[in-house]
Amino acid sequence: MLHVISFIFGALVGSFLNVCILRLPKEESIVWPGSHCPHCKSPIRYYDNIPLISYIFLKARCRYCKESISIQYPLVEGITALGSLILFIKFGPSLSYLFYFLFVAALIVITVIDLYHQIIPDVISLPGIGVGLLASLMIPQVTFSNSLVGVLLGGGSLFLVATIYQWFFKREGMGGGDVKLLAMIGAFLGWKAVILTILLSSLIGSIIGIMVMVLKAKDFKYAIPFGPFLSLGAVISLFYGENVIRWYLCMNR
Ligand SMILES: [Zn+2]
Repeated sequence: MLHVISFIFGALVGSFLNVCILRLPKEESIVWPGSHCPHCKSPIRYYDNIPLISYIFLKARCRYCKESISIQYPLVEGITALGSLILFIKFGPSLSYLFYFLFVAALIVITVIDLYHQIIPDVISLPGIGVGLLASLMIPQVTFSNSLVGVLLGGGSLFLVATIYQWFFKREGMGGGDVKLLAMIGAFLGWKAVILTILLSSLIGSIIGIMVMVLKAKDFKYAIPFGPFLSLGAVISLFYGENVIRWYLCMNR
């Protein structure tokens, strides 16, 4: 029963995340006015605003202007709902569940905004660093010193890479947003996860980057946002970090 509630709770939060994704890049309020169709501006009634279900019921079209509704809406709701359920199974009813759900929700918003606009909003990553540090004082998964070192290592290492890249290629490769995002990841997961996240996201990013270059036959200037890869690396670190590190240490014994 609690599992069902955690899934529904996740879907509702996902619905709110869609509002953040739409409005944060435009610097609009995320609480007012209520949801409306981005095409015809008609207000969306509560019965048309049920996460996941309304999308199917309305056959992916606005009730009023019949303009199609982006697949982004049910996708974000579904992923947030699943994230909530999986975290609940892992951590149970606890502060750890709440903090890590907040963390994953922030990563979802950052990923989608970065894919659309190639920016990572400071209004998420900077408070995220503070919330992560605060969480380390209240949950058993990470100590405060580990969290603090995670912030410094996350922010510092990527800043170093970005500076070298810029100096070497004479243009900006990784934005300051990525640096603050990795600092946030460090705050929530600690310094070991920062290293693992950098390794995983670089690996996945390189594979995808090469695929994109081959398929589109473009040169290095094709900008792929790095935020989604950092977010994916962080989620893998959150769920499998201990296993991956243990496996790595066994391999090298
Ligand atoms: Zn409409």
